[in-house]
Amino acid sequence: MTPRIIPFFLSNADCPNQCVFCNRGITAGASPAGITPEYFGAVLERSGGGEAAQVAFYGGDFTGLDAAEQERLLSLAGSAVASGKAGSIRISCRPDTLAPSLGLISRYPVRTIEIGAQSMSDEVLLRSKRGHTARDVRNALILVKEKGFESGIHIMAGLPGDTPEGFRRTADEIADMRPDMVRIHPAIVLAGTELAEMLRRGEYSPLGMEEAVECCRYALLRFEAGNISVIRIGLQTTPEMERPGAIIGGPFHPAFRSLVTGSVLLEMALELLEYINGRADPDVEFVVSPADVSDFHGIRNCNLNYLRERHSDVRISIRTDPEIRRGTLLLRAGEMRRAISRTEYLSMNRAKRSAGAPYSFFNVFI
Ligand code: SF4
Repeated sequence: MTPRIIPFFLSNADCPNQCVFCNRGITAGASPAGITPEYFGAVLERSGGGEAAQVAFYGGDFTGLDAAEQERLLSLAGSAVASGKAGSIRISCRPDTLAPSLGLISRYPVRTIEIGAQSMSDEVLLRSKRGHTARDVRNALILVKEKGFESGIHIMAGLPGDTPEGFRRTADEIADMRPDMVRIHPAIVLAGTELAEMLRRGEYSPLGMEEAVECCRYALLRFEAGNISVIRIGLQTTPEMERPGAIIGGPFHPAFRSLVTGSVLLEMALELLEYINGRADPDVEFVVSPADVSDFHGIRNCNLNYLRERHSDVRISIRTDPEIRRGTLLLRAGEMRRAISRTEYLSMNRAKRSAGAPYSFFNVFI
């Protein structure tokens, strides 16, 4: 069962690093100067808590805090678990600060450890001033799994020195290491960061929206094919991010995940239409899970409009069916039925890529 997260952001906590893209004041949003017992208790109370809830320490490097502060926070969260107000604890951290804290963490009901990897290219990590290597990520993930924690990995597309191919290699390597879950997002240029300065000096070009969607789409399909849960695509929007001037550049969209999943569904629909081309009734119905219908329509109906424009020879309609699994698309045309899942689409896409076919038509979203 997916836990309900009660987040506590360590936005003012010391992090041993300053990555070129990071502005915790913007990404973590407004948080108190420290997580006092009163603040902790009030948030817990407001959240409703319960066995299915997970107290999560986000927004910084938990294991980079000094040991006494880690213990204080773990003890606050541990008491919440002991009293039934939460079911477990979740932390996020850097890969290179984790090992010395594992003994301490193991004494508390921590269930999940999320590691900020960002890239598996040492060159990209260096240029992003991450201060750790890909090897640190490998070692940290091995430790987390060996100790029996649930594991999560964060990766980013479009970091300095990276390319779409390089990002795909990162996604491939992480998928092969089999964490339980991942978060994926494109690098966004936030005010007050070194990345903003690099952009101003012409030393950095962010990904365009199309490239960012393509990169994240590849990663989504790659992870899903390996049964790795993709718990987030795109940065979580905070009120600070919405302030004028907070985002200087980069492919930011508040519904970025929908862009990615919508683009997968669009390509799947085109595959299905190509399959029936000229062989079926001109009345074509796509049947989707209710959970997918909005992504299938696309932002401002762009997917449906695109399909109708490109296949003006058929009459396209959409219907939802709760029996259809999320991520699966069924096409009905007269007597003909054909379904495709995201995983099948991944194999198809791979085969096309290896045959050298150009396979991108993301041109209707922006
Ligand atoms: S390690 Fe994490 S919290 Fe620290 S600067 Fe980098 S991204 Fe920000």
